[in-house]
Amino acid sequence: MTDRPPRPPRAEPREIAELRQLKDAQPELAAAVDMQIALLEMQRRVQARVPLPWISLEPEQLVALQAAGGRLVRFGDIPLDWTDFRLTFRQTADILRRFDALEPEDYEQLMGLVREGNQIESIVERWYEATSGAVGADAAGRAPDGLPASLDQVLVLALRPFLARSAEVLAQRVDVSGWNRGHCPFCGWEPDFAVITPGGDRRLVCGRCTAQWTFGSLTCPYCANDDLARITSFATRDGRYRVYGCDVCHRYLKAYDARNASRPAMVGVDTIATLPLDAAAIQRGYSG
Ligand SMILES: [Zn+2]
Ligand SMILES: [Zn+2]
Repeated sequence: MTDRPPRPPRAEPREIAELRQLKDAQPELAAAVDMQIALLEMQRRVQARVPLPWISLEPEQLVALQAAGGRLVRFGDIPLDWTDFRLTFRQTADILRRFDALEPEDYEQLMGLVREGNQIESIVERWYEATSGAVGADAAGRAPDGLPASLDQVLVLALRPFLARSAEVLAQRVDVSGWNRGHCPFCGWEPDFAVITPGGDRRLVCGRCTAQWTFGSLTCPYCANDDLARITSFATRDGRYRVYGCDVCHRYLKAYDARNASRPAMVGVDTIATLPLDAAAIQRGYSG
């Protein structure tokens, strides 16, 4: 008898295991789940090799920046290795293309940006500065003319492992509990998900660096509307998820309700599990 027992499979991160279960339970989400697994595995690999960022601001400068409503992560403080960033950008675009989330023409054009010289470096810096809530930033001028709108999606995903590392380090140095704005205290981007904590607070999750911060439970983070009569909120039948629609700016936000949940929030899973809710929100006239 020389047969060895089969080697047990390597333990997967819980998020990936949950995504596989989601796919079994809701086969209609299979393609979205597979794309998410590919993106998460790629980002995890990159983030593991991103060095600890050097934060050049003194604690009192961070406090002052925060008081002025500015983002805490300055572009120069992101531990960006350009060779690694190019690779991450290419791999992100490859995954999106493979799952038809990126048009072939856009894909070709975006790949051109990382092939030719150093132009991607200035594009990323300009895009970050224009979208990070820095003083004088103008999000409309975030990219040079002629580049596809899908550049945003690729940059958000490709920058995430580098930016998340900066936010992680800063979160240990700066108290953001007093932050009461709708944009991310670390990178200035918008929330794209929320978590209702067991204590009933609502924490917003940044759509770019994935940092979280507490925000008024029934205030719209996009336009600051806090008139209860103009916020429409509805839950899924199982009570696991909730949608807040704002009847002033007509945008919506999805949330995981951890109050009676069997597991903690997992944003990488919950954003995919709630894709059917996007359709429901859009049908009611809201936009993402
Ligand atoms: Zn952020
Ligand atoms: Zn609003």
